[in-house]
Amino acid sequence: MAARDTLTARFFSFDKMYSHDFREHSFVDWPFREDCSCTPGKMAEAGFVHCPSDNEPDVACCFFCLIELEGWEPDDDPRFEHVKRSPDCGFLSMTKEFTELTVAEFYCLEKERLKVFLRKVHHNKMAALKDDMYIILENLRSQLDFN
Ligand SMILES: [Zn+2]
Repeated sequence: MAARDTLTARFFSFDKMYSHDFREHSFVDWPFREDCSCTPGKMAEAGFVHCPSDNEPDVACCFFCLIELEGWEPDDDPRFEHVKRSPDCGFLSMTKEFTELTVAEFYCLEKERLKVFLRKVHHNKMAALKDDMYIILENLRSQLDFN
């Protein structure tokens, strides 16, 4: 899972990624082109945004559920991989194009996207807290061993 600051940056910048064109344009440096199942167009169609880093050049992240996938192969089907790894993603159940949404439908989706983000941040914070508690517990145990 991405670090909390990365999650936050992605959540706030992905509000414009309801647009298929914006998602597709993010794949300008994507290695899989013609004769592949995961072309930029198909990645965008499946809800993904290209989020490369120096160490992970092929990371793609869903703008809605924020799941990130890497290690893509030319024959990988982006929609199949998305459904397999995040079956409850709200984007996958959208039945309309972004431009056809009513304002009420858009805000409903944004509320859901916010809930997903908050759930991930909460999970991330709880994992960090658990790690901190483990370190404190180990320190206390080592002090008891000395006495
Ligand atoms: Zn998703």
